[in-house]
Amino acid sequence: MDDAVLTGRRNPASSPIRIKRGPDYQSINVKGLFPAGEGAGYAGGILSAGVDGIEVAEAVARDLAHLVS
Ligand SMILES: Cc1cc2nc3c(=O)[nH]c(=O)nc-3n(C[C@H](O)[C@H](O)[C@H](O)COP(=O)(O)OP(=O)(O)OC[C@H]3O[C@@H](n4cnc5c(N)ncnc54)[C@H](O)[C@@H]3O)c2cc1C
Repeated sequence: MDDAVLTGRRNPASSPIRIKRGPDYQSINVKGLFPAGEGAGYAGGILSAGVDGIEVAEAVARDLAHLVS
């Protein structure tokens, strides 16, 4: 309606920390730990979280297969 007023506020926030990981996607100081997604500081939304999850899953598979990443 012409006289309707809609006020909204959105405040998306991402993790303020990042658990550092190396080129093999493992934590740089805890081998076997694969930080991933938003909580670890590698995503800021559904799409980036999904893509990061795919990349990390592939890295885990490579590690399990003892392949060089
Ligand atoms: C209200 C709201 C609206 C949003 N809207 C959008 C949007 O429109 N578009 C967009 O791109 N993004 C949106 N987001 C952000 C998006 O939801 C997140 O970026 C995304 O879900 C992060 O995915 P993730 O897998 O990294 O983390 P999460 O989805 O948070 O998954 C983490 C998982 O780990 C589990 N877990 C936590 N601790 C433990 C533990 N100790 N042991 C075992 N399991 C544990 C949790 O139960 C959870 O299942 C929104 C977020 C919120 C809160």
